[in-house]
Order: sequence, then C-alpha cells, then structure tokens
Amino acid sequence: MILDLFYKRVSRYTRAGYSGKEIECPSCNSVSRVYHFAWSAIWCKKCDQGINKYDWIIKENEDGKTNRT
Ligand SMILES: [Zn+2]
Repeated sequence: MILDLFYKRVSRYTRAGYSGKEIECPSCNSVSRVYHFAWSAIWCKKCDQGINKYDWIIKENEDGKTNRT
C-alpha cells in the first residue's frame, strides 16, 4: 500500500494507449514498452524472471495525460 504512493503500478484500469506505455521492471528497473495489457505476466529478459502484471511500474509518458477532444 505504501509503495503505491511512490510508484504507479499497473492496474486493471491501466490502458496502453495508441503509442503504447513504458513499464519498468520492479526487479531490475529495465524499461519495456507494451501496446496492450492483455497479459497476466511478462518475462523480463534483463533479470530473466516472470514479472506479474501488477508488479510492473508505469513510466509516465505522453499518455500519462489523457487528451480528449
Ligand atoms: Zn527485470
């Protein structure tokens, strides 16, 4: 719970957006870009382990702000 104050984690409400979203491995801090969240876990090639979706940290990018017309 406390970590949620500092890091924005992937949640079931997370959307990748048109240009994808950068997520950071909580274990080795390597950044990957994903274009959808229709997965439950992704294998981190850097630290060679499966990371649960909800453990990835969201790197805010241009999709962090929602632009609605
Ligand atoms: Zn990793």
